[in-house]
Amino acid sequence: MGTVPPLSYSGFSAYEECPLRWKFRYIDKLPELPRGYFSFGRSIHSALEEFVGPLAKAAGVGIVPAGAPGTVQRTLRDFDARSGKVEPEEERTLPPPMPLPELLEIYRRVWVSDGYLSPEDEKRYFDLGADLLRRFHALFLSAPPCPIAVEQELDAQLDGIRVHGIVDRIDTTPKGALEVLDYKTSKELSWQDAKESDQLTLYQVLVERNYSRPVETLTLYHMRTLSPLRTPARGPDEVSELASRMGEVSDGIRAEVYDPRPGPYCQRCDFRARCPEWKEVPVEERARVFELVERYAELRRQGEGLRQEMEAVASELHEISEHLGVHRLSGRSGTVYRHKETPWVFPPEQVLPVLQAAGLLPRTSRVDGEQVARLLHDSKVPPEVRRTLREKGSRRAEWALRFERNGGRYRDS
Ligand code: SF4
Repeated sequence: MGTVPPLSYSGFSAYEECPLRWKFRYIDKLPELPRGYFSFGRSIHSALEEFVGPLAKAAGVGIVPAGAPGTVQRTLRDFDARSGKVEPEEERTLPPPMPLPELLEIYRRVWVSDGYLSPEDEKRYFDLGADLLRRFHALFLSAPPCPIAVEQELDAQLDGIRVHGIVDRIDTTPKGALEVLDYKTSKELSWQDAKESDQLTLYQVLVERNYSRPVETLTLYHMRTLSPLRTPARGPDEVSELASRMGEVSDGIRAEVYDPRPGPYCQRCDFRARCPEWKEVPVEERARVFELVERYAELRRQGEGLRQEMEAVASELHEISEHLGVHRLSGRSGTVYRHKETPWVFPPEQVLPVLQAAGLLPRTSRVDGEQVARLLHDSKVPPEVRRTLREKGSRRAEWALRFERNGGRYRDS
């Protein structure tokens, strides 16, 4: 059994996308190629951390972690508008935001050069970053937010799963609760992205488990347009939906299930040369593999032909048996018996809910008539469930052939 590390959002989503890629990245620790857009995002994040950090440090002194002695985790209802703004416990002087030239100097210092396609490509990104930092700085000065933490590393338990994350920024809201922000430097971003972001849901859990104030707002901050895409904090159903998916990922890692899951992510996967879905057959084995595939295709073709021929002969046997009014037809090697069968038929749309409610789906993941019919005689299945299944099903009479070789027996069709 594998050890499950604390799950971060990126680890969780990487496993959901492709368990094998997760293994290459997190167990085998294989390096991935640097990419310009990642370097760009890292540079912007680092510059903002140094810009907002000193203010958050000073403003966040009064906001105690949930686990601190004498504190109680409160819910959002404790923070209605009348409770007013968050007041620092004692008067504190916040440092003025650093001037723009200083921010741009930091940006130059923390700039990550890896992964750009060319010097021109890198310059284009650098200029874009400088421009958006200029605009961010102006906006920050004209409408100062109230950050209390930046690049905050947090750990928690979610339904028994260890989770981990580094939250870009945490602000206080006018109600005295918290706003969790994640900076995004991607080109496109919509409010729907914020509404459906698993990352924000996980960050809400992390912040709520670590701070004495509730999370009121979750925000993806689109850096290119300086748009805060705000959504209300998630409800219990959304949190539990994420917990259940993280539980599946955690179980998969524990059971060391690392199967490839080919899909759109393969296009930007750096491990294709190692992946069985994409790896090429070595030159020296190609001829043998080619022959095997051809033989397999030929046998399949023959098998299909034989099946069709057998069905045609069976149909002729049915006809002649019916025409002659005879149910026993003998040949040299054995005898064909024609008889009536009455298999059960269960309409899936009616039977699936019954199986689901009775907790029988793991044993019958799809509606297999024979399998469900066996449940009708299973004493471990409650009588009322058996009765309902019987009512939903019906029996269809059909003719079948049974072949008895001289010395053996086969049911054919
Ligand atoms: S190439 Fe596709 S299937 Fe293979 S490891 Fe990468 S993402 Fe997974």
